[in-house]
Amino acid sequence: MAKVEPKQCYVCGKEIAKRDEIGLNKKLLGRDTTRFYCIECLAAEYDVDVDFLLEKIELWKEQGCALF
Ligand SMILES: [Zn+2]
Repeated sequence: MAKVEPKQCYVCGKEIAKRDEIGLNKKLLGRDTTRFYCIECLAAEYDVDVDFLLEKIELWKEQGCALF
């Protein structure tokens, strides 16, 4: 598994070190995004629950998405 460089949340500045969370950003914002959001801020941005995003991550993983 490739090592992921930690990112900082664009909104709250929290470090995003989880590959899943970075993959989620790329999935939602595009692979070339330069802005990253922690999962809490992403949920707020899309007006959904954190749990909903976590479920999506699991679903995309099952589908073999290369971002996770
Ligand atoms: Zn944040």
